[in-house]
Amino acid sequence: MDNNWEKNSSLVAAGMYNPIVFKRITKSWKADELVPYLNNFYPELEKHLNASFDTKIDILRIFKNWEQQNDFIAKTEDDNYSEFINSEECKTLDKNKVENNFGYGTVTQSGWINTKLMLSKYRQFLEKEALILNEKFDFDSLKVETEKITYKEVTANKIIFCEGTQIQQNPYFNYLPMVPTQGEILTIKIENLSMDKILNKGFFIMPLGNNLYRVGATYNWKISHYETTEEAKAELIEKIKTVLPQEFEIVNHQAGIRPTVKDRKPLIGVHPEYKNLGVFNGMGTKGILIAPYFANHFSEFLEGSFELEKEVNIDRFKP
Ligand SMILES: Cc1cc2nc3c(=O)[nH]c(=O)nc-3n(C[C@H](O)[C@H](O)[C@H](O)COP(=O)(O)OP(=O)(O)OC[C@H]3O[C@@H](n4cnc5c(N)ncnc54)[C@H](O)[C@@H]3O)c2cc1C
Repeated sequence: MDNNWEKNSSLVAAGMYNPIVFKRITKSWKADELVPYLNNFYPELEKHLNASFDTKIDILRIFKNWEQQNDFIAKTEDDNYSEFINSEECKTLDKNKVENNFGYGTVTQSGWINTKLMLSKYRQFLEKEALILNEKFDFDSLKVETEKITYKEVTANKIIFCEGTQIQQNPYFNYLPMVPTQGEILTIKIENLSMDKILNKGFFIMPLGNNLYRVGATYNWKISHYETTEEAKAELIEKIKTVLPQEFEIVNHQAGIRPTVKDRKPLIGVHPEYKNLGVFNGMGTKGILIAPYFANHFSEFLEGSFELEKEVNIDRFKP
């Protein structure tokens, strides 16, 4: 069930996946397992839905100082990192007048998912198979018994809630410590730029084609609404100017709320009292990378073949 795309973080997301955390040049959490899984998952889903929404594209990390450059180059010599980063030359930066006074490094095995297209195709598939109800879930219509779940005319063994930040309205799981993070993103048009890589300098500029680029994102823990703000727009405009000298036009500005968790790990598992109620949430800032692997892990757990990984299991929080 889905209440028709209302308050949906996935539709605002840039959809990027990046195996590297730039702050200390470390691998993203569980990158060695999540990235290979993702590399199979999205192409399979593309085939299944007969659509193309996965773009493999490198990220150029533009350094702000020599220290960042040193740290990055040191890591490129570590065998554990060689499949994800390198310091190869990229001539398009200078050609496009992109500021890189302190140099840059390249991240590979990165890319972005066109979430809008993927979700629209997946919804079409579910609608064709009559597998989706377009309505707001009504908790008063849910009957939970030991052996079965009943919701209106539907009977099932289990129900899994995947509500993003709206988990806070779920009477069974609202005890889980979600600390949502509002974020805003721009789409800009630049006529005289031809970048074929994602630029990152503490924020990103991602090529979409047709002279359009997505720029983001902001992080705000103080507001929890979907309206865009002038402050976030000004912040992103300032950042773009630190990297690009070109004139640009803003063609879109969107806001969303990330389902982030106090300890920054997913919220997956079954209710401590009602074992047929499950939750799959807390994808935080990295749903694209985390969700495929853990959706599979959770389904194997529900089939009874695995223990849930402790780090993601909601057992770590008491109601
Ligand atoms: C500005 C911004 C940029 C981002 N960029 C990236 C990025 O580049 N890469 C990345 O990996 N992640 C990014 N994210 C994070 C990403 O959006 C999330 O990790 C992910 O989308 C969460 O997916 P979800 O399905 O858990 O939640 P959502 O996408 O929010 O989906 C929840 C769904 O549940 C439905 N729902 C909730 N309650 C009910 C109810 N009672 N009845 C019916 N339906 C209900 C909602 O309508 C919604 O469709 C970004 C987020 C923002 C805001």
